[in-house]
Amino acid sequence: MKETILIKLGELVLKGLNRSTFEAVLLKNIRRRMTGLGDFEIRSAQSTIYIIPQDEYADMDEVQERIGRIFGIVAYSRACVVEKDLHAICRAAADYLRPQLEEISTFKVETKRSDKTFPYDSPAISREVGAYLLQQYPHLSVNVHEPDLIVRVEVRDFGAYVHGAPIAGAGGIPVGTGGKAAILISGGLDSPVAAWRMARRGVELTAIHFASPPYTSELAEEKVIRLLQKVGQWAGRIEMYTVHFAHLQEELLKKCPEDLFTILMRRFMMRCAQAIARQNDCDALITGESLGQVASQTIKAIACTDAAAGIPVFRPLIGTDKAEIVAEAHRIGTYDISIEPFEDCCTVFTPRHPRTRPTLAQLEEAEQALDIDGLVEECLRGTTHRRITFRGVQEVPAGQGKKDR
Ligand code: ATP
Ligand code: MG
Repeated sequence: MKETILIKLGELVLKGLNRSTFEAVLLKNIRRRMTGLGDFEIRSAQSTIYIIPQDEYADMDEVQERIGRIFGIVAYSRACVVEKDLHAICRAAADYLRPQLEEISTFKVETKRSDKTFPYDSPAISREVGAYLLQQYPHLSVNVHEPDLIVRVEVRDFGAYVHGAPIAGAGGIPVGTGGKAAILISGGLDSPVAAWRMARRGVELTAIHFASPPYTSELAEEKVIRLLQKVGQWAGRIEMYTVHFAHLQEELLKKCPEDLFTILMRRFMMRCAQAIARQNDCDALITGESLGQVASQTIKAIACTDAAAGIPVFRPLIGTDKAEIVAEAHRIGTYDISIEPFEDCCTVFTPRHPRTRPTLAQLEEAEQALDIDGLVEECLRGTTHRRITFRGVQEVPAGQGKKDR
């Protein structure tokens, strides 16, 4: 039986004049995600996008998996395609929806007919299909108010479709319609979830990771790459920059008060990240901070961190509980990787008594012992660049970042 996927455009429909731009980006994202799965006709008509395989070999389960991870899709259905013939439609409904029909006791049929040349109108089609299903499945009865299943029939100009309950999509808006921002990503649980949430609001991601070899291992960095590959299954391509931070951290340890270490380090993270963000046309930074989780995530500490960033810093997890973040990490597929035990650059030098109520004046005074610009420049010089896509991970030589985009 020939299958297709029908995508209902949810929030997109509300976007008024921007709608066509949003839809164009979504179509582009869908086309890109179907790469390698076969030949498809992808078309949009009347608030629905159709993904129609052009050969019999398309792996529709994989297509479904990928569709489920594309932002901008609220719900989709796997539908069976039939010739525009009433009896064929009845038979298709009975066969294609068998697994669902066997499980339920009540149903109703809803028909949409946009092909006005089809000789039956919508109510007549619904009646015929309903009667056929009652005959084929004697345990069923019709309930128009609260059916267990709505059997949907669509008769379009270019074909007829039968489908059952829609499947929830990833929601949000298409990646590429919300600007660009850089996620500061550690190997922890929070930052991949923060990245995912912003991508879901249409933001194209660049990732910045701070590594401290030899204090942190290569495996820690490799873990971050795997996390980004998971996030990338939803967010699309991600440019990843790894900043080497060990020397800076040694300088902080040597020259600054220990209880301010974490905030001083975070201020340097902001300075380096901001420079990389600017080079990549990103207009904001993103972190995985959540209020009160650790000493550096108090309001006062966050204010001191932000004072070092020249661009907006988004913290999509600021008001979430750990349990909610864990649930989301499971959904995204990052949880199992995040809990692998590797040292992060933040944990190698954690002060014994971090200050939870630092003031900007204290930090600025401590920073007077440092050559701020020189340290940032040194970090940026040692930065490596990778491109993470569906096809894999590619090292990008220095200076070739944007040319081949
Ligand atoms: P996460 O689970 O994301 O590591 P966390 O609760 O452990 O968060 P911190 O370690 O204080 O919190 O880090 C707060 C935020 O700072 C992280 O969510 C991330 O955005 C950023 N960050 C921390 N360490 C790094 C790092 N090594 N590289 C890049 N960003 C980092
Ligand atoms: Mg962390």
